[in-house]
Amino acid sequence: MRTKQNWNIEKMRFTLLFLFSLLFSAAFGQKIIDSLDTEDGKILIYENRTWTYEHDRNFDGIMNRQLHEQLAADSNINFIQSWDQDLCYTSNLANDVNQIKDTFWLCVEDSVSSAFVMPFDGRVTSHYGWRHGRNHNGTDIDLETGDTVRAAWSGKVRYAKYNTSGFGNLVIIRHYNGLETFYAHLSKHLVVPNQIVEAGDPIGLGGNTGHSYGSHLHFEVRFYDIPIDAEKIIDFENKTVHDQNLLVHRGLFRPGSSTTTLASSSGSTSTAGAQYYRIRSGDTLSAIAARNRTTVSKICQLNGIRPTTVLQVGRNLRIR
Ligand SMILES: [Zn+2]
Repeated sequence: MRTKQNWNIEKMRFTLLFLFSLLFSAAFGQKIIDSLDTEDGKILIYENRTWTYEHDRNFDGIMNRQLHEQLAADSNINFIQSWDQDLCYTSNLANDVNQIKDTFWLCVEDSVSSAFVMPFDGRVTSHYGWRHGRNHNGTDIDLETGDTVRAAWSGKVRYAKYNTSGFGNLVIIRHYNGLETFYAHLSKHLVVPNQIVEAGDPIGLGGNTGHSYGSHLHFEVRFYDIPIDAEKIIDFENKTVHDQNLLVHRGLFRPGSSTTTLASSSGSTSTAGAQYYRIRSGDTLSAIAARNRTTVSKICQLNGIRPTTVLQVGRNLRIR
């Protein structure tokens, strides 16, 4: 049996060990291998792949500007993403991430304020993958109608309404690292667009709305509108993330996951209410605006760009 005195000695030994390791890491601190500037702070990535991160609380529709700009600068990706409260896919699936050139680390979990929380603590009943002749983009979790569904990570609600294409009542949250999570078939929303949520906040009640046969939560993780197998990030059995970081590379996405072609030789194309224009050599924002009977500021707003942003030939601009 352990005596009280032994216990105290053990406790002291642990405290000393802890203090020593703190001193050690302060004196011989981890080497920083990468740093990303954001609007409101900085993300430092250390050699051992841990990192520190400050949240962007004055969100303008792009959570991680550095990541956004890196993707936008990759001419292989037909990059669009905007902040839209009415559209599920703000790129209209034109982001061809299969063409991604670079690999980069994405911070999945912030140990300080944005640790992962299970959206609902239930049994996984269906996985991401091919099902009934098409791809099932989410992970289904069993629940009863009325059960509380929670935000998996902190972020900002982009979409919270009834969706007629099968999701039923749907909440979409954009997270600070650029990932979005989808919570579908809800019986009720508990949040509104533009609302800031913390990981674990109730965002809706489980249900059976939309194309659903029996109450369950359909949960998706998307990277710039392209679905990723949530189980590559989350260990649903142990209710935790596999790793604090995710290596983003083209192999993360299934081949052909972005096949919608919006390009058109005759100029602008229209899909589901949104209209796009493919930038050609010599185009200017004001010329595009005039030709499409809109304004430069409207185009900037729709595409999350500035009037001074350099236009990339071949990229699609949303004009409506
Ligand atoms: Zn599902």
